[in-house]
Amino acid sequence: MHQVSLGAVKFAEGFDFAFPTTCCANCGTREALRQQPQDTRKSTYLLVGGTELTFKLPLTVCVDCEPSLKRRPLTLANKVLIGLMVSAAIATGILIFADSGNLEMPFLADNLLLISLLAGGGLSALYFLRHRPQPRQSSYYQPVLIQRLNRRFLDGAIEGIVFAFTHPAYQEAFEQLNRAAVQAGFVKAVASSTGRVPSSA
Ligand SMILES: [Zn+2]
Repeated sequence: MHQVSLGAVKFAEGFDFAFPTTCCANCGTREALRQQPQDTRKSTYLLVGGTELTFKLPLTVCVDCEPSLKRRPLTLANKVLIGLMVSAAIATGILIFADSGNLEMPFLADNLLLISLLAGGGLSALYFLRHRPQPRQSSYYQPVLIQRLNRRFLDGAIEGIVFAFTHPAYQEAFEQLNRAAVQAGFVKAVASSTGRVPSSA
């Protein structure tokens, strides 16, 4: 059983858990495994404001899934923002083109906003669609996420972590390995659908 070293983060007394090393966190295979730290960030909000904590989760992955550990998932807000930025770029492009006299299409000019939003949304959606996991994999992005962090009111020590798993076998192994910690309420494992990011803090 590997001791979890998560960096300079304070934990409540008795807090102890480990990540399983028996199968790949992303695809569940039991071959060619290696342990790699996954850089995982989570913002928490205490009395005086928010802090972002960085955890190095020692996950076990196969060679094929190793790159996914570096792909931090995008939230829906991120995706919308990217879509809007692409739309704005398209609108700017149309305007510059129209202004230079190369564009003799009143339809484009009249429906600039709508066309830009549609084109921007479509292009962004295509871009996100390309980021699909390989057939065996459960996620293109990081296979384990921190869904919730409970911190003690007074000193901010971590009292509980809810982990979201993209692969059921790895989640099951985690639950089995950490029965005591789950019972004590230190950790909890929940299923995460592919690439989904829980928006709750
Ligand atoms: Zn794998």
